Amino acid sequence: MTTAARQFKTQARLLTRDLRHRGLIQTALRNYEVVRDQNRAAFQDWEMARQAAAETKWEAVNHLDQHLARLANNLEARGAKVHWASTGQQAREIILGIIRDKQARSIIKSKAMTSEEIHLNEALEHAGFEVVESDLGEFIVQLRKEPPYHIVFPAMHLTRGEISELFSRELGSAPTQNPEDLTMAARRVLRQKYITADIGFTGANFAIAETGMISITENEGNARLTAALPRVMVTLLGIEKVLPRLEDLALFLPMLATIGTGQALTCYNSFYGGPRQPGEPDGPEEYHVVLLDNRRTELLADAEQRDALHCIRCGGCLNVCPVFRNVGGHSYGTTYSGPIGSVITPHLRGLQEWKHLSYASSLCGACTEICPVKIDLHHHLLQNRRNASRQKPSFFEQIAFRGFALVINRPALYRMAKTAARMLQKLHPLVKGTRLDPAFAWTRTRELPPVARQTFKEYWKGRKKDGGAA
Ligand code: SF4
Repeated sequence: MTTAARQFKTQARLLTRDLRHRGLIQTALRNYEVVRDQNRAAFQDWEMARQAAAETKWEAVNHLDQHLARLANNLEARGAKVHWASTGQQAREIILGIIRDKQARSIIKSKAMTSEEIHLNEALEHAGFEVVESDLGEFIVQLRKEPPYHIVFPAMHLTRGEISELFSRELGSAPTQNPEDLTMAARRVLRQKYITADIGFTGANFAIAETGMISITENEGNARLTAALPRVMVTLLGIEKVLPRLEDLALFLPMLATIGTGQALTCYNSFYGGPRQPGEPDGPEEYHVVLLDNRRTELLADAEQRDALHCIRCGGCLNVCPVFRNVGGHSYGTTYSGPIGSVITPHLRGLQEWKHLSYASSLCGACTEICPVKIDLHHHLLQNRRNASRQKPSFFEQIAFRGFALVINRPALYRMAKTAARMLQKLHPLVKGTRLDPAFAWTRTRELPPVARQTFKEYWKGRKKDGGAA
């Protein structure tokens, strides 16, 4: 078992037994589910909308080279500098290079999961720069020195009391259970940071090839301030974020809001296409866009699983996943958790080390059903399992399949195995749940399927004896 698998198992076991943690997540998601379903019902035909979104993403991903070239040309035509990063390390170096070149000291950031993916904050802090997250949830988890718990709700695992305690300790604010007072405490600190920051850093929700624009959707206005106030703006995004046309957003923005946060539309939807143009009153003097590959093109080369790149990071599959809801986001030990994380992490970080996540699923299919872009998530989990076994079968798998081949190719052995299985089945209740149980862990919480009382051959013989038609 790999270290990552061992850690996942330990954490998952701990949190599944933690009823307080489970209660918090269920409560947080209950309100979300009500508004999500109300807004979903407001679509004239939700299934048609999903189909249209899936087809648009198919077009974007299957012609990614053309759309990316168009996006880059349009951005550069308005004065933006476009950088291509093959790996996380390259992206960090590019961003550090920009910051050093500008002799910057402080960076204000709005939410960007890609920056979590490449561990940007750690790299910037290690290089001596001050980095402040401006999204409230991200700001909270940054103060706690922990990664986001969820790709949309980074601090959903915390109570107001815990946040109040944190703010009192770290920001010196008065203890309160009032969400508005807590927000104001964070706001007082963050407003100063916007004014003094040299660099504004953002992620992106979509990138429009047709117009060369980055689309950012949010509820706090923090990404707007991050883009508007500092002299230099840097946006980091995965190459799969591209959409062909501006009009595609008419579908994608309400879909993302509906499944992401349960809103008809998020409060702020902004577009960035370059630095401040002559005559414009605000905006950055310089605009850099870093396009990140980081093994996405390897996934693109895999025709069977390519559609995992359709993901718009709405978080919907996490919210419905019975495993995520019990083990929580931090147990996964990855940037992207839940079903989509279990699908893409083995591609982004190594199949053998992360294959255990593909087993963190009951294969109930709730993730596939909710996904607004129709990614067949639970089948991808099965494909990951199959690919991992093909690439490197475990010792148990090797023994099991060799044994199976041996038995299935020898009728006498097969008959003996059948008789043995029936006998074991009778004895099983005596050892069930004990270490003598041949399927010890498996049968602790499940029943072994019964061995058929009669084989097909026996049934057929019986039919002939009874005079049934052959
Ligand atoms: S896989 Fe689908 S449901 Fe999950 S985050 Fe991505 S778009 Fe949303």
